[in-house]
Amino acid sequence: MNKFKYMEDYGYEQLCYFHDKYTDLKAIVCVHNTVLGPALGGTRFWNYPCEEEAAEDVLRLARGMTYKSALAGLALGGGKAVILGDSKGIRREPARREAFWRAFGRYIHGLSGRYITAEDVGTSTQDMVYIHMETPHVVGLPGRSGDPSPYTALGVFKSIQACCKHVYNDEIEGKTVAVQGVGNVGYYLCKHLNENGAKIIVADVSDERVTRVVEEFGATAVDPNDIYDAKADIYAPCALGATVNDDTLPKLKCKIVCGGANNVLKDPRVHGKALRDRGIVYAPDYLANAGGVINVSYERAEGGYNEEAALRDIDRIYYRMGDILRSSDETGKLTFETADEMAEARIEAVRNTRSIMA
Ligand code: NAD
Repeated sequence: MNKFKYMEDYGYEQLCYFHDKYTDLKAIVCVHNTVLGPALGGTRFWNYPCEEEAAEDVLRLARGMTYKSALAGLALGGGKAVILGDSKGIRREPARREAFWRAFGRYIHGLSGRYITAEDVGTSTQDMVYIHMETPHVVGLPGRSGDPSPYTALGVFKSIQACCKHVYNDEIEGKTVAVQGVGNVGYYLCKHLNENGAKIIVADVSDERVTRVVEEFGATAVDPNDIYDAKADIYAPCALGATVNDDTLPKLKCKIVCGGANNVLKDPRVHGKALRDRGIVYAPDYLANAGGVINVSYERAEGGYNEEAALRDIDRIYYRMGDILRSSDETGKLTFETADEMAEARIEAVRNTRSIMA
């Protein structure tokens, strides 16, 4: 990948490589866009097969955060960090663990608040505590906003409600939802679905997690390979990305795709259109799963974290989702295109005020 060309094409601001030889920290931080505010996005700790894949991942994820925060109405831009290596290995070495995360914290501090980090795949709340010893530019600390998953799940649930209203002019009660992946987000989503009278079909590669939702919420379990074929009104992907693809699309029997996973459509143009051609409504993923970032953003609010205000803001996902679905019907654009345009319009409008504010 020609990175400067890619950055120019997609409007990236900054890509930073950090290496600390004492702790063997290898990190890449990407700041995609800071027009609406500092770039917020979690740190992913992953055993990438090569440096190039790590760089591509951080670029893609940072841009996704710009759109997510823009559409969620937050005063935040988009960024992300990736660390190359074995996250479990570091956890087994307490002395190195603290030094490692504090070294990372110092690098983050060097970005002077342009980038704010948080937990993501492979990182924990304790890691954020170590980062916080070196910089204030970290959210998701214990005693503050906490685990984002219940809030993400709530936003997904609000989105499913908006989709039901749009498609069936009806509530979720009595509808069947096929939930793929009942980890952090999927579990809490099932809780909301159960409380609101939906029937739940679930699949997970972890038997333990499946048993939990079967016992607690009366869900019906199916094999992970059979979730796409499930007779359901709604397919809610809450495990992996790219699960709507050439192989799975013909199997879907639902009328709505709405879940917590990022990048649900393998190729948005191809599979977004194919869903619409089959009469299936697609809820743009980065709006549906914005509850977590909305909640965590309230850690930065004046007066400190305020759960009530965060929940009010997450409620608004319902109306935003409805607006996007209606607007797409009116214009004939795909739902993800409408979402992208709304996010871009907000960024451009604020960018144009920069000459006044700077
Ligand atoms: P998680 O790891 O807790 O849960 C994922 C679950 O999916 C696990 O139980 C795992 O066993 C299961 N799984 C993996 N492969 C599967 C397969 N092939 N079939 C069925 N199940 C499978 O993760 P999470 O925090 O619940 O996040 C779920 C998704 O939502 C991820 O894509 C994540 O990027 C996205 N997301 C999460 C948050 C959040 O607040 N946690 C916010 C935004 C987006």
